[in-house]
Amino acid sequence: SVTTTTGGRHFLQIPGPTNVPDRVLRAMAAPTIDHRGPEFAALGLEVLEAVKPVFGTTQPVVIYPASGTGAWEAALTNTLSPGDKVLAFETGHFATLWQEMATRLGLEVEFVAGDWRHGADPAAAQERLAADTAHEIKAVMVVHNETSTGVTSRVAEVRKAIDAADHPALLLVDTISSLGSIDYRHDEWGVDVTVAGSQKGLMLPPGLSFNAVSDKALQASKTAGLPRSFWDWQPILAANERGFFPYTPATNLLYALKVALEMLDDEGLANVYARHTRHAEATRAAVRGWGLEVLALDEREYSGSLTAIYMPDGGADAVRATILREYDMSLGAGLGKLADKVFRIGHLGHFNDLTLVGTLGGVQMGLVRSGVDIDPNGIQAALERLQQA
Ligand code: PLP
Repeated sequence: SVTTTTGGRHFLQIPGPTNVPDRVLRAMAAPTIDHRGPEFAALGLEVLEAVKPVFGTTQPVVIYPASGTGAWEAALTNTLSPGDKVLAFETGHFATLWQEMATRLGLEVEFVAGDWRHGADPAAAQERLAADTAHEIKAVMVVHNETSTGVTSRVAEVRKAIDAADHPALLLVDTISSLGSIDYRHDEWGVDVTVAGSQKGLMLPPGLSFNAVSDKALQASKTAGLPRSFWDWQPILAANERGFFPYTPATNLLYALKVALEMLDDEGLANVYARHTRHAEATRAAVRGWGLEVLALDEREYSGSLTAIYMPDGGADAVRATILREYDMSLGAGLGKLADKVFRIGHLGHFNDLTLVGTLGGVQMGLVRSGVDIDPNGIQAALERLQQA
């Protein structure tokens, strides 16, 4: 066994997949039904409508039986043509992977360099777009919440930058680790494609992903020349009109989605976002209480869904291994060039004050046990934050 702990639940505090609520697990444990029958149509119509508010949209949301990477590919192949230029920002590991995909698909990527401690820079976006007087850049790609760094890009400001440059590029945004955790507004921010996944703020197991699609994106898809078949929006949207899918949907995950959306609606999205903000604040208070460093540098970009703790001299993997072995808690590893230099605490999804206290308690004990030089009472600052109204 990888852990010496027995009894109690495993703490899955990676920044996704997140802990799945019992209510959602129970919803999945129902018989799979005929996906071409009337009972399914009712489910399909219900979830396709109920999912929209989480995106802040009244426009169509396409649901794929795929991980988030599939929805990344769908966003690109439905809207762009071979050789099109796209503008992307090096905010971290996931932004890097998405633009690599764009290159492999035959797009020409302008990748604005970054330090993995800041979000997409709206001023840089405006400058690049204003310089592109021929309007060769067809899309701007932004990862809203960079899961590898705990930095949240200011999408509304990127939108303003595109408008200020008076540029027609599409805005494509990855909300895989922000949707249902951090305030997000597809329609209000004029986002053209929002990419999301099931396994983080939506509190579902992995296996579903999403594209929320603006009218402008839908128009672009009519002439976009990149090859696509499985990901093509058109046949899916046509079948969705009657609650169906052109291929076998992930029926039991849709049962789960229905219940998870009910849970988010019962709590109220504003309350869900405030809860995440508060838990993120308490987590940063603990990190500073321990005398450690939060990776994110700009307080306007602190993530509500996870916190990356920076250990520039390395050793983060050993801390995580100790915490898993001694306390049965999984934390996120440093990815890409941050390997062993950060560990990440996920505080998103199905999560409350005591989940956070347990999580931070495990981190504190693990740090002490690993011999990291910290203030062993650092968690007190988090408790004080949580005790505030
Ligand atoms: N984008 C972000 C921001 C992510 O956090 C992830 C996964 O963690 C992905 C994309 C890739 O999604 P998936 O692993 O579901 O394919």
